[in-house]
Amino acid sequence: MSDPEIRLRKMVEALRENQYRITPQRLAILKVLAESKGHPSVESIYAQVKPNFPTTSLATIYKNVTVLKEIGQVLELGFSDDSNRYDGNKPYDHPHVVCVRCKKILDPDVAALKDMTQELMRETGFTITRHRLDFFGICPDCQAKE
Ligand SMILES: [Zn+2]
Ligand SMILES: [Zn+2]
Repeated sequence: MSDPEIRLRKMVEALRENQYRITPQRLAILKVLAESKGHPSVESIYAQVKPNFPTTSLATIYKNVTVLKEIGQVLELGFSDDSNRYDGNKPYDHPHVVCVRCKKILDPDVAALKDMTQELMRETGFTITRHRLDFFGICPDCQAKE
């Protein structure tokens, strides 16, 4: 089974455990989230669901994403100057690389993060429970256009 299928199954299970019904429209939203590697916005999920479910509204997508966030099945990336983006592949804190031009968002593999967390705890005495780590820059595609 591929990763998107596993994620889709996990999201469906979590919704059922929380007494949410799995409608065909809801399943379509889950599929977009499970399959998207690019951290879609609510608007982009809407654009992908709409062709097959013409009665879908932006509000419906918002509601579904909010539910998924509440049950820990989607990670919300908040940006003050832009619309929020969502990660349905990795619904837990992890670093992101954000292109300031085209708004592409990737998940880099950062091996040093565990050491960094340990160091922070040692230095501050905090118990670290969450983190937000965003790196901003210009992606190779946008660099090539310059
Ligand atoms: Zn870019
Ligand atoms: Zn991510």
